[in-house]
Amino acid sequence: MKFENQPPYSLGQRSPSQKDAGDGGNVTLVSQSTLGEINRGRVLQALYDHGPKSRAELARLAGVNRTTITGIVQPMIEEGLLVEGEAVPSDFKGGKPARPIYFNPEAPMLGAVLLLPGRTQTCLVTLSGEIKALTKAEFDPHGDRDAFLAIIKDTLSATLSQAQQAPFGIGIASGGMIDSDNGVILAVNLAPVLSGLPLVDILQTHFSLPVVIDHHPRALLVGDRWFGPGRGQQTFAAIYTGEVLGGAFYIDGRVYRGLAGSGGELGHTVVQIDGELCNCGKHGCWETVAALPWLRREAARLGLANPVGVTSARLVKEAAEGSEAADVLLDRYTRNVAFGILNLQQTLSLNSYVLHGDIAGGGADAAERVKQHVERLVRKRPNQEISITVNGIGEGHTALRGAAGLVLSSHLKLVI
Ligand SMILES: [Zn+2]
Repeated sequence: MKFENQPPYSLGQRSPSQKDAGDGGNVTLVSQSTLGEINRGRVLQALYDHGPKSRAELARLAGVNRTTITGIVQPMIEEGLLVEGEAVPSDFKGGKPARPIYFNPEAPMLGAVLLLPGRTQTCLVTLSGEIKALTKAEFDPHGDRDAFLAIIKDTLSATLSQAQQAPFGIGIASGGMIDSDNGVILAVNLAPVLSGLPLVDILQTHFSLPVVIDHHPRALLVGDRWFGPGRGQQTFAAIYTGEVLGGAFYIDGRVYRGLAGSGGELGHTVVQIDGELCNCGKHGCWETVAALPWLRREAARLGLANPVGVTSARLVKEAAEGSEAADVLLDRYTRNVAFGILNLQQTLSLNSYVLHGDIAGGGADAAERVKQHVERLVRKRPNQEISITVNGIGEGHTALRGAAGLVLSSHLKLVI
């Protein structure tokens, strides 16, 4: 008997390798406890997507009966994760007054770390997404590793000491090449002090808390999914531009990570064969034409004032004030950003892109220009809408919320 066409993997599980699949039967059944985790995760996800909901409303959203929902939420209320609000009149005639359920503000919080070349931010995030005890520090990206570790431990200690009870865990969003399975920062071109650092093990030992790490753009994606424009969406991408360019995908209701978290290195997809030399050693990577170093170089070449300080936000402002040079450069830059999105769109047809970092600083104007370029270039089907938006919450806070979201997905089996 074969089950080859059965859905093989439950949420949160990795696919078995060919070797594990034995004779090719490829059967992985879902255990009762895993099913429980999935249902729990889905209910939490529904609360994130829809806000406070009564048991009856949750049952309707999930397509199950109230008894099933109660069986899932009651343990979470008893654990103090969820709390019942004041009763409000029921939607249903003759129904009992409904008590909306939402995240308990008194529940343990989540620790979050944003690690970028030369600077770090740490904070606590409540289950409903509020940021507390934000602490910032700088470090020498080319400096001594022990000095860096002392700084990150001190910064995190300053944040964690403000928690009333031990947080669920610590999530780290880091720039560079990350092995999220093994918790190692493999390489950061702009911060060699971080390269090869097994940061998860180090912080787990020091703080005696679960620690997870992921690529910075993936944390932005999780932040988008949780509180930003990605809320409730099943498929979208986050694109970050700054000193470097990166991205992350949310596909069919799941974060796509690739092998050990190596997916999403969009900055090094090639858009110009034999183009400029990139930091990675290849030529013509998307990053060579759609990140800040390109923008500064072109601003200098065109004779714009203060080319070192050029940003998308500044170009949008100067273009609106009538600067033709700013208008032309912004148009070329947004077109360069659009080319990478075009390739993604033709490959995965995600249809929805949330911009972060410098390009998001250009606001709706920059997003609209990118969108127009994509629409001019793409082979679109009739009635296919492509959405390109910016996350207005702010890059730092979205990444920190996303880093906290990484803890949620590992600790609470939340499906993000
Ligand atoms: Zn490259």
